[in-house]
Amino acid sequence: MNESFLVIQLSKLYPEFKLQVELEIEKGEFFSLIGPSGCGKTTLLRLIAGLESPDRGFLYLNGRNLTAVPPANRRVGLVFQDYALFPHLTVAENVEYGLQVQQIPSSKRKERVRELLSVFQLEALASRQTQQLSGGERQRVAFARALAPEPLLLLMDEPFSALDYGLRQKLQKDLGRIQKHLGFTVIFVTHQQEEALSLSDRLAVMQEGRVLQFGTPQEIYEKPFNSFVAEFLGDANLIPCHLEQLGEKTCIDINEHDRLELPALPGYPSGNYFLMVRPEDFQLKGLKGPALKARITVLEYLGFSYRMEASIGQYRIKVLIGKEIADLKVGLEIAVRINPQKIRFIPQE
Ligand code: ATP
Repeated sequence: MNESFLVIQLSKLYPEFKLQVELEIEKGEFFSLIGPSGCGKTTLLRLIAGLESPDRGFLYLNGRNLTAVPPANRRVGLVFQDYALFPHLTVAENVEYGLQVQQIPSSKRKERVRELLSVFQLEALASRQTQQLSGGERQRVAFARALAPEPLLLLMDEPFSALDYGLRQKLQKDLGRIQKHLGFTVIFVTHQQEEALSLSDRLAVMQEGRVLQFGTPQEIYEKPFNSFVAEFLGDANLIPCHLEQLGEKTCIDINEHDRLELPALPGYPSGNYFLMVRPEDFQLKGLKGPALKARITVLEYLGFSYRMEASIGQYRIKVLIGKEIADLKVGLEIAVRINPQKIRFIPQE
């Protein structure tokens, strides 16, 4: 009936929280779930793993209905931020554990363990106890252990959150490479928007137990569905405005004084909107056409660029600009231009 690799249609009711999610995920995808604390990311992972039962709905993985299948038989692996390694077992024994549970013959087990220790560069640590490992090493063991029984789907709940920045970046790269190499499908929960944008093929933004928007990182970053998504993923300027379609032109009134006249932007009926511009999409020069008058209120030199705040009447905007602009200073009035192709309008709710 359904063709997607993973079809999720689940709802779960707790006394003070309701989760209701419909999603389809493709084979081999790296799919991230992001959203504020308490929006239901972990609950959704636990439902997919079978650690919680849904009140309604179903779950299909590779054409198989998993809704009533016990966790151990789902072919779904799990990696959590606390690693949950077995302290009394060595690295190799931890990796082998799931294969023993599945009663895989010894020679096959040893071969699979060898392969995974090699993929995760853990060979030299094979006979170490897990308490003698660093955080990054433990995390690699947790990945290897979860992948040993060849899950079709790997669920990861903030697996890098206990690691420092450098190590996190290295493990992210390793994970991305290994995931594409071995071809398993991932659902990844993270609080780090940069991590979600750089690792994911697609991602879903959740709020209060629901998926607000899903799509590729570019789609969600460039075309957020509402102001919550715009502000949750990246930095966004949301300037209240009135938009009027006038045939060949689209006119945008901000503050009752500032008026932008743009070539017709189809798809937006006249009305009240937020003009959404990412800080990096403003330009001070190099673009022709209408501009907004802004007064610089904050100017910070970041090395690779300037970060600026400026006032447009009563509104404050954040602007990131290249270093080619000289003679900027606080108090100066400037003209900020926006590439019409980068402009989005989000209806005021
Ligand atoms: P975080 O990012 O902080 O980990 P999250 O998005 O993963 O948050 P969940 O842990 O899924 O959020 O929790 C979602 C909501 O469900 C919370 O309000 C939580 O209190 C509630 N909840 C989770 N498990 C239970 C439970 N067993 N009984 C009652 N309420 C629960």
